[in-house]
Amino acid sequence: MLKFHNYDIVFQEVPGEVALAISISNCPNRCKGCHSPHLMEDTGKTLCENTLADLLEKYGNSVTCVCFMGGDSHPHEVERLSAFLREKTNNRIKTAWYSGKQHLPERCSLQHFDYIKLGSYVEHLGGLRHKTTNQRFYRIENASMVDMTEKFHIKHSEVKL
Ligand code: SF4
Repeated sequence: MLKFHNYDIVFQEVPGEVALAISISNCPNRCKGCHSPHLMEDTGKTLCENTLADLLEKYGNSVTCVCFMGGDSHPHEVERLSAFLREKTNNRIKTAWYSGKQHLPERCSLQHFDYIKLGSYVEHLGGLRHKTTNQRFYRIENASMVDMTEKFHIKHSEVKL
């Protein structure tokens, strides 16, 4: 079962979108230098279709995208909820997934997402805003992954993580 710690409306995590970012707990990745160690704990409230329907009711007109931050402990639940959101809003709301895995998990389908970030957090390489990062951010277009990681570097070249 997925659980989430909190959520927030954000402007920089998904280029060109106003996103409702949901921070999912129970992260299994254990990256050295983790920027959000509290997300490794199995805490928070259940994240399910009912939760998302409530959030859509409150924020659905204020955002263009819902971004799942984490969820690698139950990737197929993330996929299911992403598909739910897109169907419920007739694709008006896009979905993004920040996974800490190197590759899309087996049997997860690209077609249920609009954006996917892949790659673990490696402290000395930095996150997406660092040009040295190992992480990649993709837009999903016709079942292909279009790398748009550079968008983070152009817009945020002066930002340090
Ligand atoms: S994936 Fe993110 S939240 Fe999970 S351990 Fe790595 S840095 Fe921390």
